[in-house]
Amino acid sequence: MKRIAVFTSGGDAPGMNAHIRAVERTAHKHGLEVIGIVGGYSGMMSGHMEVLDRIRTANILDRGGTVLKTSRCPEFLEPEGRTQAMEQLRSHGVDGVIACGGDGTFHGAHLLFEEHGIPIVGTPGTIDNDLWGTDFTIGYDTAINTAAEAIDKIRDTADSHGRLFFVEVMGRHAGFIAMDVGVACGAEYIAVPESMTDIEELYKRIIAQGRDQRTIVIVGEGDELGGAYKLSQLIEERYGLTSKVSILGHMQRGGSPTVRDRVLAARLGAASVQALLDGKTDVMVGEVAGRVELVPLADTWSHRKSVPSYLIELATMLV
Ligand code: ADP
Repeated sequence: MKRIAVFTSGGDAPGMNAHIRAVERTAHKHGLEVIGIVGGYSGMMSGHMEVLDRIRTANILDRGGTVLKTSRCPEFLEPEGRTQAMEQLRSHGVDGVIACGGDGTFHGAHLLFEEHGIPIVGTPGTIDNDLWGTDFTIGYDTAINTAAEAIDKIRDTADSHGRLFFVEVMGRHAGFIAMDVGVACGAEYIAVPESMTDIEELYKRIIAQGRDQRTIVIVGEGDELGGAYKLSQLIEERYGLTSKVSILGHMQRGGSPTVRDRVLAARLGAASVQALLDGKTDVMVGEVAGRVELVPLADTWSHRKSVPSYLIELATMLV
């Protein structure tokens, strides 16, 4: 193996830059050349690639987003798109690939390996923390801290006015962000996609607060009833209670990564280079109980990672 490529794909996550830097530094320590693919699978298909060196990766590890950019690339869903991408990788002399992203990115990486045999290793880069095979994903810690800071501010105004607030946090299919920030911010109710939201129980919790008291309800965006606006509407229609809605949205993706995310990104970046050197492929490099672990890419989406039960118990105990 002489030359490897790294790219970021799908939803961006804070810590991706620290990851790119770690890959570049580790690869060069091992005498490998490193190419950065610009714009995820779109850049792979069009051959938009740049040489990564110490200078290019200097002063990026504290920055949010990804200097290699990212994209959603529908053409890569088709075999022809992946063949075109493989031709570009070949013409750039790439012997191995590191793919940082979420389960969509890993689906694509798995197919690229299956169809064309190029060694490929995934690293978990998503704020959702919904990948099996790693305790935490790169970007999650920053996202929950950003959300908690925002909710603390909403609490100040909610408290001053004695208002009911529905605050929606990210997490398309998983309630990790909602549960962690809900417990961290002392939410009165946390609605997540993993469990059925009980409108009557929600109403009881609101009333138990005293109607003129501040009440914060955290809603995961993937909640089966349809998000914060929907819950606010249901509570108004059924019980005549008015409320304010705040959607935290894309701010949760941005910002300088926390120390936890930088260290995780660095560790998994270095481990992904080592995995390629060891001849591993079609695997994700994750961290489980403090140790680096490799799991087949397909396991990361076929096994469901659950929100820890202790968090759910805590959230109920502490209301
Ligand atoms: P994430 O990696 O954060 O889950 P996406 O789901 O948008 O983000 O996936 C990123 C990209 O991965 C997609 O735009 C597409 O190019 C590729 N991809 C996703 N799913 C597949 C699939 N089933 N087969 C091939 N490529 C896929």
